[in-house]
Amino acid sequence: MASSAVANSIGSIDRSMVEQIVRQVALEYLGRGKNGTAPVLTVHTSARHMHVCREDMDVLFGPGSDLTFDRPLFQEGNFAAKEAVTIVGPRSRLISNLRILGPMRKQSQVELAFTDAIMLGFDKIPIRISGDIAGTPGAVIIGPKGVVELKEGVIRAGIHVHMNPAEAAYFGVAKGDKMKLRIGGLAGLTFNNVVVRIDPTSRLNVHMDTDEANACGLHLTKDIELFK
Ligand SMILES: [Zn+2]
Repeated sequence: MASSAVANSIGSIDRSMVEQIVRQVALEYLGRGKNGTAPVLTVHTSARHMHVCREDMDVLFGPGSDLTFDRPLFQEGNFAAKEAVTIVGPRSRLISNLRILGPMRKQSQVELAFTDAIMLGFDKIPIRISGDIAGTPGAVIIGPKGVVELKEGVIRAGIHVHMNPAEAAYFGVAKGDKMKLRIGGLAGLTFNNVVVRIDPTSRLNVHMDTDEANACGLHLTKDIELFK
């Protein structure tokens, strides 16, 4: 009994030491010093928005037109544009002032919360990671210079976390893994399927949509924890 207890305790010390070292390396890489503090987590709410491709931009805003920078987003290089469009759903209901986020992408895509989709008359829209739009519903998009009929591209973006490789090492996760996000406070809840997205240019940042943010009362608390 005694020797087994000793062996177990040595085993757990080894594991925690290894974890400590991995964290230390990751933190040093991050340049956050040696005090063992976790990388700073920010959680942002993405309101409904659209990404446009060059071809659709030409139709909606005129040939050769460009997105106008309005304000930067947390992830380097991404921005909210001044341009907005109107989306028409399957039962001719519409939402105007749908903001476009830049830069332009290879494919146009509309990201809605479920509440938006219901308002527009969609029976259901799939939960996808941005860019994965094959087989998703389409919509009619109206811009100041023309109208585009998207054959596909309407999704609810699944809740996800952006991080760089050092932050992924800190958490011990890989691209596509699912993490948990616990939100404290009066309306608190835990999200169980926060998809990991890794890019060298990323900063640790969870994106949820307005339905998710309202459900968990994100604005009511700073008690937030991301874990495997
Ligand atoms: Zn995101």
